[in-house]
Amino acid sequence: MKRAPFIVDTHAHFAVQANKEYERGRERHDERSEAAFKDLKNLKRLVGADRDEFVEEANSLEDYMAVMNDNDISVSWVHQLSFQDVYGYEVLSNEAVADAVRRNPHKLRGFASVNPHRGKEAVRELEHAIKDLGLHGFKLNPNDYGGFWLDDRELLYPLYEKCSELGIPVSVHTGITPGSIFRMKHNNPLLLDDVAVDFPQLTLIVEHMGHPWNDLCYYMVGRHDNMYVTVTAVANILVHNRPQVFRMELCKMLGQCGSHKILWGSDWTVTPNIPEVLAYLTKVSVPFPMKKMMGMPDITQEDIANILGLNALRILK
Ligand SMILES: [Zn+2]
Repeated sequence: MKRAPFIVDTHAHFAVQANKEYERGRERHDERSEAAFKDLKNLKRLVGADRDEFVEEANSLEDYMAVMNDNDISVSWVHQLSFQDVYGYEVLSNEAVADAVRRNPHKLRGFASVNPHRGKEAVRELEHAIKDLGLHGFKLNPNDYGGFWLDDRELLYPLYEKCSELGIPVSVHTGITPGSIFRMKHNNPLLLDDVAVDFPQLTLIVEHMGHPWNDLCYYMVGRHDNMYVTVTAVANILVHNRPQVFRMELCKMLGQCGSHKILWGSDWTVTPNIPEVLAYLTKVSVPFPMKKMMGMPDITQEDIANILGLNALRILK
């Protein structure tokens, strides 16, 4: 009998009172926050979410815990999200993530983030989030906090250094740059090549398949023992719209990095079509012509089990 895979969602968010804050933002008629919300709605449309009004979506922790239950997700890594400079409030604070983890210690792991522009204070905040709040990893999004370069030695190396010292993984948003208010150049996964070389003990998780720098990203992850790639959000979009393209990308990733380097994440609540993606991943196979004519590797049950949970379990118990 086939065993159901152990599933870890390595990338999820929820919202705390965001609706109320969003309404406040609307009153301000802030162009940047309006544009950012429009982008979120567009993303939800792309994955077929039935209600496109972001503020009407079920997006609380309780909603997400129900999603975990419905989809047999055993553990989830919840990521902080600030974007205070865009929305005028912090979407999901370290404290809120820590509170969720404290209330669900067997189900949730938490990724903290800090504003790197705060210098030494940022390093102290990170240490506090890990040691005192009990969080498990560091999240970096180069679009957040006004934007930054992922290889910025002055700004980020002290934080990478601290993560290395604390022995925690770093999840880095790369690739997809929704909408026009953020700068694509900051999202190039190649910026992490220096970081992987300079911090060989640091576990680096390259989010979103580095899309649209996919091939470069897979090559880089295959090159560095301390790097992993996630299919987060891009899988949701491709499986919903162009599943054959996703299968091709999966084959390329497997060939370049091996299934021990690939992680699954949902990016709930941004891309909520989790049942569709999990159903696809548990039955995906490579047709004969792709294997024979293009030399694509087979996708085995073992590969899928690695991607859906076993790798995540190895990185973070
Ligand atoms: Zn995310």
